[in-house]
Amino acid sequence: MALRNDCFALPAGVSWTPVEEALADLRARLSPVTAVETVPLDGAQGMVLASDIAAPVSLPPADNAAVDGYALAHASLGAEGEQRLVLCEGRAAAGAPFGGIVAPGQAVRILTGGVMPAGTDSVVMDEDVDREGSIIRFGSGLKPGANRRRAGEDINAGDTALAAGTRLGPAHLSRIASLGIASLEVHAPLRVAVFSTGDELAEPGEALSPGQIYDANRAMLLALAGAQGVVTLDHGRIPDRPAAIADALAAAAHGADAVIVSGGASGGDEDHVSRELSRSGAMALWRIAMKPGRPLALGQIDSVPVFGLPGNPVAAFVCFLIFARPALHRLAGAAWPEPVAYPLTARFSAKKKPGRTELLRARADGAGGVEKFRSDGSGLIGGLVWSDGLVMLEHDRGVVEEGETVRFFPYAGFGLV
Ligand code: AMP
Ligand code: MG
Repeated sequence: MALRNDCFALPAGVSWTPVEEALADLRARLSPVTAVETVPLDGAQGMVLASDIAAPVSLPPADNAAVDGYALAHASLGAEGEQRLVLCEGRAAAGAPFGGIVAPGQAVRILTGGVMPAGTDSVVMDEDVDREGSIIRFGSGLKPGANRRRAGEDINAGDTALAAGTRLGPAHLSRIASLGIASLEVHAPLRVAVFSTGDELAEPGEALSPGQIYDANRAMLLALAGAQGVVTLDHGRIPDRPAAIADALAAAAHGADAVIVSGGASGGDEDHVSRELSRSGAMALWRIAMKPGRPLALGQIDSVPVFGLPGNPVAAFVCFLIFARPALHRLAGAAWPEPVAYPLTARFSAKKKPGRTELLRARADGAGGVEKFRSDGSGLIGGLVWSDGLVMLEHDRGVVEEGETVRFFPYAGFGLV
């Protein structure tokens, strides 16, 4: 399914779009682009479910015992005093039901997972029972239905077990297996091409020429994308030449469902990514009221979405997490992911004016507080390494005083280590 050609168009006249608005736009305009395929259960880890799964059976399928003990009819017990019941021959165990009927005044041995025999509704546990031969004795106070798991208490046949758009992890696989389902419809993995632009960039492992720096973005962006469960394709480093960037965009779009580029994304002289994307006709420079982050260039090459991120590694990291990440999930068929946030107490103060969202590299102190990195300089990769999450200061928020509550987004909530 191809995206509409104008999916990144911005309303005319908008200059600085609030983050929330930009995200709502992305969310509304993007849709799954990957094919649907059927995979066996054991190949489904990390895949995105393409259709709802309805439970073909109830779980548990029948009432059964939650403990080892004796099954009985609660109505046949006395109101108070010592209870005394006669045991039936036989027992109910997991996988081996008791075939008979338990009469009032009787009980039958039952083990955890054993189906409740006809005539019983409650289980008195071993620890509460004195047994002598075929007689059991226990105190009063057993509740009706005690230690019994109800049929369907986990899920009822016909109910939706998992919704389309769920990314499948261990718990989901258990759910699917528990329902006896051996194969399922998932989205083919999203293929994401990544390249860096910049004449100044050298490859790690190579010697630096004067004026060069190492490409710090490609490894980071490949890992950020990989952590979202997509297939990543490394398209290398591209010099700041229009023809080279045009070729690189075409090649990347040809074999991928989405392209992520760093550098050259704002409107400057050497910003060939944004220029090439506008030449292709379907580009919008999103001037987002966010720090860090310069204009984000969103465009399409042959209907494949291209995310032009800032070259500055910290800005690229933050823009990826805030914008590219949910977009990739949506393109992959997954539900729009809302990152996990915790309210924590600011152990810092920060100058801020209302009118833009700010993301601070931050570290939870394990005692309900959060610190911010010593420097706001957005070029410092050391701040990314030091931090274990981001504090988001909302668009309308002003100065932050020490002791105020701020929202902390741990990197783990974005799938990162
Ligand atoms: P740009 O967005 O291309 O104008 O780049 C902004 C800043 O980020 C410049 O200082 C670049 O040298 C730097 N930069 C761009 N790409 C990378 C990269 N892949 N690794 C490290 N720094 C980069
Ligand atoms: Mg550049």
